[in-house]
Amino acid sequence: MRKSIFYSVIAFVMGMLFMGFVSGTLNPLSNQLVNAVLWYQRSDEMKAIYLQNFNWAKQIVEMETNKNQNQHKLAVIVDIDETMLDNSPFEGMLIHTGKSFIRSLWNDWVNRIHARALPGAADFTQFARRHGVEVFYISNRHVRNLKATLENLKREGFAYADSSHILLKDKTSDKTKRRNKVTAFYKVILYMGDNMGDFDEIYKKGSSLYDSTAVWRDSQLWGTRFIVMPNPMYGTWEYTLFPRGKKLTDLDKAMIKINHIIGY
Ligand SMILES: [Mg+2]
Repeated sequence: MRKSIFYSVIAFVMGMLFMGFVSGTLNPLSNQLVNAVLWYQRSDEMKAIYLQNFNWAKQIVEMETNKNQNQHKLAVIVDIDETMLDNSPFEGMLIHTGKSFIRSLWNDWVNRIHARALPGAADFTQFARRHGVEVFYISNRHVRNLKATLENLKREGFAYADSSHILLKDKTSDKTKRRNKVTAFYKVILYMGDNMGDFDEIYKKGSSLYDSTAVWRDSQLWGTRFIVMPNPMYGTWEYTLFPRGKKLTDLDKAMIKINHIIGY
């Protein structure tokens, strides 16, 4: 048994070295991103899912504004990265260079202001504005990235791309307090995001693939109050795979991920 584990590890490392040789990178973790990034950048399915989600969001805006009869100030809360803006070229860079995520690389990408609007995203914000529904951007980009982020949103044609409609991360990635700042003054009719923390902190505690009780408990909210965007490249879900408090190399993480795959 031990021998077979040893040989699988050797085979895996050799495979990764070969993959690295082929692609010019020797990082097993960034190599695991290949299919996810390709799907995100090249598939029509990805584009159709974003358009589908924003079409559905428009229907919710129309329905809620009709119901509201100007009684409340209405708003939608959206995340930015992989919800409104496409940062997949950053993930592509990690594959090409064999690097893994570090904050300084991310800041460099953000400050280039190259992120493109996702399909249907900017149009949706303009639609909301025409219906008198304000859009608030609650993102875990750091407050230091405010200027570049606003410029990026403006350049891509987003409505409400101003400092009173954007709440970035200062100390905590928990978005609850920032959401509360909006709900204190607005009736929030819809939340959109690619990460469970964009909706409620309780969803981030899911411990395993088949034990996400909070997601199942709130099954009626998906597609009515909450719209989830597809992001196969990264997310909080990855951290539930790794043991807590242990320093892991990229190779450790790559192996742990493979070990979590269900086969038969
Ligand atoms: Mg996001």
